[in-house]
Order: sequence, then structure tokens, then C-alpha cells
Amino acid sequence: KGEREEVIIEKLKSQYKKINVNKIKNFDDFPLSKATIKGLTDSGYTVPTDIQRQSLGLSLRGQDILGAAKTGSGKTLAFLIPVLEILYCKQWTRLDGTGALIITPTRELAYQIFETLRKVGVHHDFSAGLIIGGKDLKFEKSRMDQVNIIICTPGRLLQHMDENPLFDCRNLQVLVLDEADRILDLGFQQTMNNIIQNIPKERQTLLFSATQTKSVQDLARLSLKDPMYVSVHEHA
Ligand code: ADP
Ligand code: MG
Repeated sequence: KGEREEVIIEKLKSQYKKINVNKIKNFDDFPLSKATIKGLTDSGYTVPTDIQRQSLGLSLRGQDILGAAKTGSGKTLAFLIPVLEILYCKQWTRLDGTGALIITPTRELAYQIFETLRKVGVHHDFSAGLIIGGKDLKFEKSRMDQVNIIICTPGRLLQHMDENPLFDCRNLQVLVLDEADRILDLGFQQTMNNIIQNIPKERQTLLFSATQTKSVQDLARLSLKDPMYVSVHEHA
């Protein structure tokens, strides 16, 4: 099984550079794993939204992304799909630990991302966990080793980094900063700086925001490497 999987993965990756945004109609026009396509189809997602179409090729190729698109434009799948594909292509297993960290401003948003990931990622074999507070810290702590995809709020994440010996993101491949403008509006600037200092430098970072404020630009400068700027405008 392992060898065949490697052939499939190499074939997918070889198609990344040929992605032509103008020719993409449906998700299955992108070179995505069967598991992701099936998860998307099962969940009723067939046609990518603008921000998904514009950013997916770049994020699959390993680029850092600074994505701007208004609320409701589908930013969640614009980062969940690459997270799944990156871990899939690296043949990530539960033993590899935390490979993706998704930071979002509020518990409610974290739950929503978790639910979407559960649906779209159901045919993959990755574990996912929420670090959002509200629950007993001890409970969260005991479960945080070996979680492949962590979805979290900034304050609670930093608390785990400081206090939880089981928390280990040395293998981290992808960092997602979701709704970055709101994270900063809530006063998490310093917390974000501390988090970014605590995670591996060699990683891909996807930053999405509804608006591009000065403080979002500052966070982008701190967290992204040669980012591709993807902005989806409303048509007037
Ligand atoms: P944003 O984060 O940009 O505010 P969301 O990712 O929360 O937007 O998506 C907004 C809504 O659009 C959700 O209900 C989601 O299920 C739906 N949605 C996202 N992508 C698609 C798609 N490709 N096709 C149909 N509906 C989608
Ligand atoms: Mg969102």
C-alpha cells in the first residue's frame, strides 16, 4: 500500500506547477487527494469560491499566503484543504505529532473550523483537537500529545506552550492564522508574537483576514516569508 501511495503523491505534486486558475471550475480540477475530494463532495462542496480558487494553487506549491477576503467568502476551506493535502503528501501519521496549528480568535470560530474539518477530513486518518479553554486545562493537557491538527485560540495556546510538557510542535509544518484582523482587535498582538517565537521557523504559513489593517500587515511581516498576496475584491 505504502509504495502505491507514494506514486500517487508524486503524481499529484508534479501537477501543482501546472495549475491554471482560469481553467478551474470544480474542486476536482485541482490535483487533490481522493480523500479530500470525497470529503468535499460528501459535504456538498463542488465549486470553489474565489478566495479558494485564487489561493489553493499557491498554498499547494508551498507558498506563504496573505489572503484577504470578506466574511462569508469561504476562507475556512482555503486553509483546511491545503492543511489536509500537506499532511497527506508527507504521509503524516499519528506518531508524527502536531503537523498543523490553526489559530482563530474565538471559541465559536474554533468549533466551526473543527466541525468543517471533521466533515471534509473524514476520509483522512489525522487526529484533530481543540485548545480553546472553557474545558479543564488538565483534560486538554493530557490529550494534546500526538494530535496532528490543533485548532486553538491564542491565549489558551500560549498557556499550553508555557505550562504543558506534553505540548510539542517541533514537527510543525503549517501555521494558519485565521481571521487575523479579529485576533488583533481582541488584543492578542503580544500573545501572537510570543507564539510565533515558540514555533519552528521552517514552516508554511497561511494568514487570512477579512480586512488588511496596519496591525495585520505587522503580523504578516512577523509571520510570513515572501508571501503571495491574494485579495478577492467585491465586484461593484
Ligand atoms: P469566511 O471564513 O470567509 O467568513 P467560511 O469559510 O466560514 O467564510 O464560509 C462561509 C460559508 O460558505 C460557510 O457556510 C461554508 O460552508 C460556505 N462555503 C465555503 N466554501 C464553499 C464552497 N466552495 N461551496 C459552497 N459553500 C461554501
Ligand atoms: Mg472565517
